[in-house]
Amino acid sequence: MGAIVRSRMRCPFCGATVVPYSNRPPMVCPGCGAKLRMADRGPAFLEVYIAVIAAPALGFRGWNLLIAIPIAYGVALVARAIIEQRFFPPRLEPFDQNAHH
Ligand SMILES: [Zn+2]
Repeated sequence: MGAIVRSRMRCPFCGATVVPYSNRPPMVCPGCGAKLRMADRGPAFLEVYIAVIAAPALGFRGWNLLIAIPIAYGVALVARAIIEQRFFPPRLEPFDQNAHH
């Protein structure tokens, strides 16, 4: 009860578990010393697409559809957060991947 579930992330190089002690990159892998950062999450508008597709699919039409879409959007936001937390923990990627372009 009340325990904070710490997300475990794995080093893409050696597979060691990296515990994020700070939100400021880079994080250093305890296994191989690689500098890592959190990978970007999926597209931010995913929930909008889900809502626009799900609401009419659930049988909402006309004015009901206009009301249902924001509700479906809210549900999608919560559902996505829960699903990501459980099944898609944050990934790590090399810290300097996009540093010099
Ligand atoms: Zn490593």
